[in-house]
Formats: sequence, C-alpha cells, structure tokens
Amino acid sequence: MRFDIITIFPEMFGSVFSGGVVRKALEKGLIEVHVHDLRDFTLDKHKQVDDRPFGGGQGMVLKLEPIFAAVEKIKRNKEVPVYLLSPQGRKLDFRFAKELARSPQLILICGRYEGVDERVIQHLVTGEISIGDYILTGGEPAAVVVVDSVSRFIRDVVGKMESVENDSFLEGLLDYPQYTRPREFRGMKVPEVLFSGDHKKIKFWRRKESLKKTWLLRSDLLGEKKLSREDKKILEDIKTEKKGKSNDFD
Ligand code: SAM
Repeated sequence: MRFDIITIFPEMFGSVFSGGVVRKALEKGLIEVHVHDLRDFTLDKHKQVDDRPFGGGQGMVLKLEPIFAAVEKIKRNKEVPVYLLSPQGRKLDFRFAKELARSPQLILICGRYEGVDERVIQHLVTGEISIGDYILTGGEPAAVVVVDSVSRFIRDVVGKMESVENDSFLEGLLDYPQYTRPREFRGMKVPEVLFSGDHKKIKFWRRKESLKKTWLLRSDLLGEKKLSREDKKILEDIKTEKKGKSNDFD
C-alpha cells in the first residue's frame, strides 16, 4: 500500500517512520510513504501556500490551487481515496482504519492554520478524517496516526495476523492484560493461572479479563457486541464478584 502525504512541513516526517513495525514494513516494501511539499505545487515565485480568509478574521487559510495540483499529480487513478485530516471529519477507529487499508493508494492532505479552502472539501476530497475531538496545530501528527493504524491491517506488516486480531476493539472487546518477567516485582505478582500450563484455563481467564476490562472501562462496546451465552454468563459472574467487593456498587 502506498501512502502519499501532502504537507507544508515535510521535515516533520523525518524520523517518525524510522522505527518498529512501520520501518520494517517500509524496508520489506509492504508499504510506501511518500511525503510531498505543498510548496512544490505552487506556480508563483514566492511559493505561496496560504492567504488571508475572505470576509476577514484571524489567521491564514491554505490555498486550493496547489492542493488540487498536488492531488492531480499524485493520484494514480480516479478511484484513489483522498482524505483531508480535519477535526470535522469521521472519527478514526479500527473499522475506518481497516476500510482505508483496502485501497492500494491513499492520499492524505495535512491542513494548517485556520484550515483549507472549503472548495477542497466540497470538490476534491473523498472525505475528512479526525483523530479525535481536539484541535491539533496541523494535520501532520494525524497523518502519522493514520499511516500507523492503517498499516497494521496490511498483510504481513504485523508478524502474526493473530496478534492484530487479538488487539483491543477488533473483536469488539478490550484486550486482556499482558505480563512478562519478572514474575514478582515489589510484591506485585503475575496471576498464577498464567503459569499453570493449562491452555484452556488461561484462555478462559483471558476471556474473563477482557470482558471485565471492557465492562469497567468501555461498557459502550458491550452494547454493540453480540455476546455468546458463555460470555453472558462470565459477565454475570464478574458483576456478582464486583458487587460482593464493593458496597457502593449500583
Ligand atoms: N479551524 C479549524 C476548525 O476548527 O475546524 C481547525 C484548524 S487546525 C488549527 C489546523 C489543521 O490541523 C486542520 O486543518 C487539520 O488538518 C488539522 N487537525 C486539527 N485537529 C485535528 C484532528 N482532531 N484530527 C485531524 N486533523 C486535525
């Protein structure tokens, strides 16, 4: 999969993909990340990428001509999705990331200042992607988040696809807790069951912890998920155990 990022600060991407799983994916040629300087698509000698907003007001707005020129040059065919990073967009979640991973090319436009000329949104892009309800100073950190989260869904990027499938959300539940050596640290112990060697027991414990975490931290996810009869029973047990431990439980 090929990612094309359009930005006025290409230097921001200098080392951000130079470690871990993404670096390995780049080295293996499983993904490509091309960063384009929006200034290279300007036609005036000052390489102007922004201007004052019509109607007055604070700040600057990214001009539309260089953005159109960049997208038209980079887009390999009509079907290539083009997304503007924007706090007004569809919120990125695992479903959206998985959807984006289906396309062989993805173009990401990073906004800055007060944003981009609205005609880019109305007439050029496929959609807008938000990484959360807060305002970043620019789309670049959001583009990094998109590349990282989408890459995980590309075959062979993460060593074992199983580890992606076990991640939080994918199954509609949060991931179970993980532990590694040492077995004990300052009196903090790893749950005994993990040393039992009994895979069935460990599997059951992990399922229960996963359900417990989801119920305690993200009960909204349980509303969306169709639980099996066994899961429902485990959840009832968790609630009863919790009730027994806390007086103010409602
Ligand atoms: N005035 C704009 C608004 O209120 O919608 C915000 C502009 S923001 C300061 C500058 C740029 O940062 C945006 O054009 C967008 O590309 C990026 N950005 C800011 N917050 C973002 C978010 N939550 N998700 C994705 N991109 C974001």
